[in-house]
Amino acid sequence: PVHRSSEIQEARLKLPVLAEEQVIMEAVKENPAVVICGETGSGKTTQVPQFLYEAGYASGIIGITEPRRVAAVSMSQRVAKEMNLSTRVVSYQIRYEGNVTEDTKIKFMTDGVLLKEIQKDFLLQRYSVIIIDEAHERSVYTDILIGLLSRIVPLRNKRGMPMKLLVMSATLRVEDFTENQRLFRTPPPVVKVDARQFPVTIHFNKRTPLEDYTGEAFHKTCKIHRMLPSGGILVFLTGQAEVHSLCRRLRKAFPFRRGHSSLPRIDLDNYSALPLDEGDEDREAEVREEEEDNDDEGSDLDLGDHPANSGKIQKEILRVFRSPPPGARLCVVATNVAETSLTIPGIKYVVDCGRVKKRFYDRVTGVSSFKVTWTSQASANQRAGRAGRTEPGHCYRLYSSAVFGDFSLFSEAEITRRPVEDLVLQMKDLNIEKVVNFPFPTSPSAEALVAAEQLLVSLGALKEPPQMERARLSCPITPLGRAMASFPVAPRYAKMLALGKQQDCLPYTIAVVAAMTVREIFEDLDRPAGSEDESQKLTQRRARLTQMKKLWAGQGASLLLGDLMVLIEHVCAYVTAGAVGACEFAGCTPKFCEENGLRYKAMLEIRRLRAQLTNAVNAVCPEVGVFVDPKMTPPTEHQVVCLRQIILAGLGDHLARRVQAEDALDPKWKNGYKTPLMDDPVFIHPNSALFKTLPEFVVYQEIMETTKMYMRGVSAVEAE
Ligand code: ADP
Ligand code: MG
Repeated sequence: PVHRSSEIQEARLKLPVLAEEQVIMEAVKENPAVVICGETGSGKTTQVPQFLYEAGYASGIIGITEPRRVAAVSMSQRVAKEMNLSTRVVSYQIRYEGNVTEDTKIKFMTDGVLLKEIQKDFLLQRYSVIIIDEAHERSVYTDILIGLLSRIVPLRNKRGMPMKLLVMSATLRVEDFTENQRLFRTPPPVVKVDARQFPVTIHFNKRTPLEDYTGEAFHKTCKIHRMLPSGGILVFLTGQAEVHSLCRRLRKAFPFRRGHSSLPRIDLDNYSALPLDEGDEDREAEVREEEEDNDDEGSDLDLGDHPANSGKIQKEILRVFRSPPPGARLCVVATNVAETSLTIPGIKYVVDCGRVKKRFYDRVTGVSSFKVTWTSQASANQRAGRAGRTEPGHCYRLYSSAVFGDFSLFSEAEITRRPVEDLVLQMKDLNIEKVVNFPFPTSPSAEALVAAEQLLVSLGALKEPPQMERARLSCPITPLGRAMASFPVAPRYAKMLALGKQQDCLPYTIAVVAAMTVREIFEDLDRPAGSEDESQKLTQRRARLTQMKKLWAGQGASLLLGDLMVLIEHVCAYVTAGAVGACEFAGCTPKFCEENGLRYKAMLEIRRLRAQLTNAVNAVCPEVGVFVDPKMTPPTEHQVVCLRQIILAGLGDHLARRVQAEDALDPKWKNGYKTPLMDDPVFIHPNSALFKTLPEFVVYQEIMETTKMYMRGVSAVEAE
């Protein structure tokens, strides 16, 4: 039996999902798979696991997957608290950490964690129930998990170890799961939770600002705050930089004066230090999606988690759940994360910029770019809905109704918008031979699947069947492919790790791979400065960084590794300037990073990944016995040559050649590089260590389109 406090019990009873407890449990009893639809905030995530627990489904573990780390951590803590159980029983597991014990009965985890567990035990025998949460987000791993579980659940039933599957969605659009014959032959029942939603009045702008929507959001927020009755404000922007900039402006507009009516200053980088004053008129907090910005989104290296400092985010999240002091107004500036996965109480006004930041890939050329685009009608409506949770509310859309009419109805499933070689390799490792036949809720295109198989064949992870068998057989996985599949990085980088093992430069390979797969390790020193002072600092640091890069990259053989050498040097954190000696990476401080133009968070992420990759390599081949050397010395010239070969083995198809003199007549080709797949030139970024050298042949990690087509992670190759 569960003993809840009366306060918790009272709050629970207000949640719409409570009214459906019987219907849900009945459906679960009668069916192997059930879909639950209910508005954000109706209580799905926090309550359904409790229903199952109380109905006796905790003979094994009740597992719940979340597409985001932040949700896995905060929801596990919330449920533990509601049930009055310790975190030994209601636990979480995300990529780098967790508090699961042998007593765990309810386990929140990221979808990637569950996928890895399926690789170890296809039948998931420790679980009695799996709940796939936030299925409407259509994240790649969620989709794959539903496909896999549609097979695992019947298998378990056949073997007399029944298991239940619940799929939970915040929208009613679930046909891709229910009406997909390949997925579930008998369509699973859909239980709709009727959320008592209060009416939200939608206000469209007459005109649509094309550029400065952050400025428009600022004016609207100030206006609401000055003119409208009490109630929290939730502002939707597209990325971390915008969130910070708006918060800065709002803090300035309502500066902190102790004892006076104004905003307390909340420095989120040092959040816990600041007290909340009574009598402040406003309160401001911000929810940041864990690194949803360019830096980490779409880092395909890991299965499902996005790098984050979850401890700190956790504090920030808890903060928005506290009610503001009397006379104060809560203002939350957020990105997409507040759209469905978190319900912030007390919101009456929503300001919606109508946009979303997404990563785009060009399927043919592999060029990727981050673009801010219009969101879909479905998500704009989700955003508006946030204003009507506790009383009637208002949503201010910073665009016209005509523009809204042109939005697509729904967002596309992520799996149709990105390369799939990592998924194909994981599936082959699960012995799914014909990936085309996999019951995807929405299938990736046939071209994307073919391209993925081709790349995996060229990396040696799959074997091409003999010519005459090709029509009938698909490519089987090789032993190398199996080893690669066990590394938590994309296949190209997994290949490098597998090769590194054979040479004596494994620690460097691990360091390079860790650094390559973490995005944006350099701080953006070209960003617009907020003040005179900051501008001066940025200029100083730019100069210093340029000097360091020259020192790091400009030595003999190392030159050929270009940006990757700079990465190695960073990871070694070996300050060559005047041979100062080793700066222990373990001691890499925020100050060191700031002085060297590095992003501290990225460095921490690299450190964790290095440790994780080192463990993974040791698990695959214990005989090599690598360890994370905090004082790694820079590689010798011979090792650099080996490293280059290793890198080339993973990026061999990402070769570019500098344009020859005769082509260079056209100004658009000046300093340009030619790649096999594109008609237009690509370039070495001015920030690159090889910008001045312009070697004849280079390999690159990826092509990013920003102001120009730029290669990222460039390394020089000698002509044969
Ligand atoms: P759903 O999954 O349907 O969107 P949830 O189960 O996440 O709904 O949320 C149900 C309620 O629990 C919401 O009103 C939300 O504000 C509240 N809630 C969630 N986490 C916390 C927390 N850490 N502290 C206080 N309230 C919370
Ligand atoms: Mg939820």
